[in-house]
Amino acid sequence: TRIPSKTLANGVEMPYMGLGVYKMTDREETLQAISKALEIGYRAIDTAALYYNEAEVGEAIRNSGINREEIFVTTKVWNSDQGYDETLRAFETSLKKLGLEYVDLYLTHWPVEGKFVDTYRAIERLYEEKLIRVPGVSNHHAHHLEKVFAKANVMPMVNQVELHPYLSQEELRAFCKEHNIAVTAWSPLGRGVVLKDETISKIASEVGKTEAQVILRWHYQNDVITIPKSVTLSRIEENISIFDFELTDDQIARINNVNKNERVGKDPDNFHFDF
Ligand code: NAD
Repeated sequence: TRIPSKTLANGVEMPYMGLGVYKMTDREETLQAISKALEIGYRAIDTAALYYNEAEVGEAIRNSGINREEIFVTTKVWNSDQGYDETLRAFETSLKKLGLEYVDLYLTHWPVEGKFVDTYRAIERLYEEKLIRVPGVSNHHAHHLEKVFAKANVMPMVNQVELHPYLSQEELRAFCKEHNIAVTAWSPLGRGVVLKDETISKIASEVGKTEAQVILRWHYQNDVITIPKSVTLSRIEENISIFDFELTDDQIARINNVNKNERVGKDPDNFHFDF
């Protein structure tokens, strides 16, 4: 499968789909999942310092035989490392673990109060130094982005947020579009919960595709980048096999209607992690 790309604000091409690797902790399993993904056409991997698998991500990329320039690597600065100097240091550690010369996309993982603006300013510096190709953020509401805009010279080009049919984020998507910020959906399948939705199942049987494929196609037709996670080889393949069919406007509208503003993860206005 050839995965289409979205052109970001600075002209960099980001694949519309990548492999999410959160909770891939078993070394062999992680290497195998990423290798398989790269073999069948994935060209983007979404990791984070928090996931403790940056070393495996780098190793699988090097072992793939694919040119580095053809692969889009995202990583993120964890909450405990935020602030200007801290972020620069955290980036160095991530780069070393990845064993790469540069990162494609570097994100503030969550908007830590009192720190996220400085964190972004450090990301902006990494961009100016060409150590990253795209500066971005994650879990930012519009009001967080406004604070970043007020201090930034280069605007964030990607915002990675929880987004799936039960949390369709229509307003935030419109806001990001207005500011030329591409949206990436994390937990694009609602961590599996949305796969059991009746409307989605109905549409899946109408088009002869799986529930996961219908949801991922819905994201794509909404111009949203996705990073579904799976270590199961058949699912890794199933998830990118969505570029050979189309949902009708009516089917898209029916999926839009299942929105419940219901999160599977934390709200960026109220998050606390015990680790
Ligand atoms: P997801 O929506 O990708 O769901 C993953 C779950 O769905 C897994 O349990 C998997 O077994 C199952 N699944 C995957 N493909 C399937 C298929 N075809 N059929 C049936 N089941 C399938 O949720 P996620 O893992 O939470 O999110 C994906 C990625 O997003 C993560 O790996 C990570 O990279 C990123 N993420 C980022 C943040 C953030 O704060 N920025 C937070 C959470 C996740």
